[in-house]
Amino acid sequence: MKVLKFGGTSVGSAQRIKNVAQLIANRGKNIVVLSAMSGTTNSLVEISDYLYKRNIEGAKEIINALENKYRAVIDELFDTEEFKMLAQNEIRDCFNYIRSFSKDIFTLFEEKEILSRGEIMSVALMYHYLREKHVDVAMLPALDFMKTDKNNEPDTQYIKQKLETLLERNADASLYLTHGYICRNAYGEIDNLRRGGSDLTASVIGAALGADEIEIWTDIDGMHNNDPRFVEGTRPVDELHFEEAAELAYFGAKILHPTCVLPAKLNNIPVRLLNTMDPEARGTVIYNTVPSRRIKAVAAKDDITAIKIKSSRMLLAYGFLRKVFEIFETHKTSIDMIATSEVGVSVTVDSTKGLDDIVNDLKKFGTVTIDHDMVIICVVGDLEWHNTGFETRAMEALKDIPVRMISYGGSNYNISFLVSKNDKVKALNALSDKLFKN
Ligand code: ASP
Ligand code: MG
Repeated sequence: MKVLKFGGTSVGSAQRIKNVAQLIANRGKNIVVLSAMSGTTNSLVEISDYLYKRNIEGAKEIINALENKYRAVIDELFDTEEFKMLAQNEIRDCFNYIRSFSKDIFTLFEEKEILSRGEIMSVALMYHYLREKHVDVAMLPALDFMKTDKNNEPDTQYIKQKLETLLERNADASLYLTHGYICRNAYGEIDNLRRGGSDLTASVIGAALGADEIEIWTDIDGMHNNDPRFVEGTRPVDELHFEEAAELAYFGAKILHPTCVLPAKLNNIPVRLLNTMDPEARGTVIYNTVPSRRIKAVAAKDDITAIKIKSSRMLLAYGFLRKVFEIFETHKTSIDMIATSEVGVSVTVDSTKGLDDIVNDLKKFGTVTIDHDMVIICVVGDLEWHNTGFETRAMEALKDIPVRMISYGGSNYNISFLVSKNDKVKALNALSDKLFKN
């Protein structure tokens, strides 16, 4: 059994819902996890925002617009009056429920109830559509099994037990359908796994049932080996280690968040990234592979600021780095890259919020220099230090580009270079030529 998760854009219109239905109907007895239709969760957040502010008119305007959108989807989706009615009734109930919150006080609790309707509606539409097409689909309501504990972590024991019972009860079905993102918390209230949480839903279900594979369907064909916006001829990476995927995630490979696949990683379940627009493509599979001795991908992260703190007090002293790092901690700023020498340390940050205060505090310990508009270029692959030649090839590719910082050895999977924004495209292409074209 596999777990197949479809994101918001994959179910973002009547036509897309039809495409996904066709795809899942022929892929075996799997569990399908759906996100809300794209844009819906954002609209629900906006509705809640107006309700917090007691602007009932503002909320109603968005509710009406959203309801009209769903009406149009239903009109296009269904062929028979019978199923059209079923869907219409269910969606109408959802919107009446959302409207009912405009009367009383509005808190986080009510907001979560509203946010849950996005996935409830997308799954309802898919369920009725599959039924109309005579697919023997069974619904596994997420609110009946997906639960978090007092630390807001998935309650794996509970989830496993409830899921197995639900599957047994529906043993004859040819397909199972469930909601991403939504859950109940330790107090039984409706809650969610935070924005983008449907990936986590799929991963938790896969881990609970020991699935063969978790498929994450989006509208991109896997993770590319370089940024297609700046480099020609990029191609999807066939295989990635979970750690390599985690390194790439920071660089805006937004299709996957490391915490969302942690349950899959811990349970050794492969996660495959697939493209709804090109279902036959192999995509990218992420697993705990044996080392591959290869460089897999290059990625860049913009808007980086480098801060250098130089002090002769650092020479042969201890505690200097702690003092420096404490300043960043005080200002709640996370550091990304680090390079040190005996008399100085350079760090990078990806936000300039509070930078003036940080610099002010750092000046107590040394001379501070700032470089704005920098870019981290990250080379990801099996870069375990006993392997030879990888660093050289990456460095050689960048031989004509001024490099401000280099960081290697923090993990076995990454080497990072800090260059000026103006050299980004040149650096990405040079690495692509040297590392991937032979
Ligand atoms: N619908 C939720 C969101 O937009 C969860 C998800 O799509 O994964 O954040
Ligand atoms: Mg950071």
